[in-house]
Amino acid sequence: MRIILLGPPGSGKGTQAQRLVQRYGIVQLSTGEMLRAAVAAGTPVGLKAKEIMASGGLVPDDVVVGIISDRIDQPDAKNGFILDGFPRTVPQAEALDELLKHKHFKLDAVIELRVNESALLNRVETRVAQMRERGEEVRLDDTPEVLTKRLASYRNQTEPLIHYYSERRKLSTIDGMMAIDEVTRAIHRLLLALGAVEPKVHGKAHGKARARSAAKAGPAKKAKAAKKSAKKPAKTTKKAAKSRKAAKKAVTGPKKAAKKTVKKKAAKKTARKAVKKGAKKAAKKVTKKRAKR
Ligand code: AMP
Repeated sequence: MRIILLGPPGSGKGTQAQRLVQRYGIVQLSTGEMLRAAVAAGTPVGLKAKEIMASGGLVPDDVVVGIISDRIDQPDAKNGFILDGFPRTVPQAEALDELLKHKHFKLDAVIELRVNESALLNRVETRVAQMRERGEEVRLDDTPEVLTKRLASYRNQTEPLIHYYSERRKLSTIDGMMAIDEVTRAIHRLLLALGAVEPKVHGKAHGKARARSAAKAGPAKKAKAAKKSAKKPAKTTKKAAKSRKAAKKAVTGPKKAAKKTVKKKAAKKTARKAVKKGAKKAAKKVTKKRAKR
């Protein structure tokens, strides 16, 4: 499954992306996260992006397209991915189309989380206050001033993507102002309706996916997941054996009935013969008696 989450900063893309990762065992590709890691590591890309990010602007298209192109090729992205924060401009979307075409990958959906801008500012202010209370480090670009600038660049450069994907019949819009769980459910329903996920996996990451998502969660969980997915084939084999037995029964059933009918017919024949024999004997006796007289 390959999807794009579209929405302004603070719309909940990151939260929903993490839930999708848990549920379907696919990877989250967040350009914001990758750029922050590059800044922290002091790589050439990080040095280029640092100032731009701190001021709330957008990093050049070629830089982010290069990052995404490399990341999509990693083995863990083979099973599918959620793009969070990319594409952010029409040229990025065009470059992504080319990339996917070249790799023979299909984009399943573009999900827009639609939110109310003034509520976003409140959300970010509350989140920042809570993080400060917990003594957590607050992102440099999470201040109301920078957020206002990020919202402006969303409106000017990213919002045109709504039209871009809607024209290509890829866009679905979900009300991002609902409670987090409600949004998650709406996304799941949408993915089901689009056929991007199977109804069977509803509520749980299945087999390989379960093992993959647990692989990141540490050895204890990993072992548990491995045990569970190892059990699965056994279950399937048991199930298969059961249905084979049932199928066998279904075949042997009519055979038995046929045998019974043959037996019944033979018994009737014997009985008829016995009656005939008895009658013949009785007739002989009567003839003999008559002859004696
Ligand atoms: P995010 O975590 O997605 O809000 O991204 C944080 C910052 O990283 C943005 O404000 C941009 O400066 C930069 N950034 C992230 N993704 C992109 C992108 N696709 N194109 C350009 N800049 C980006």
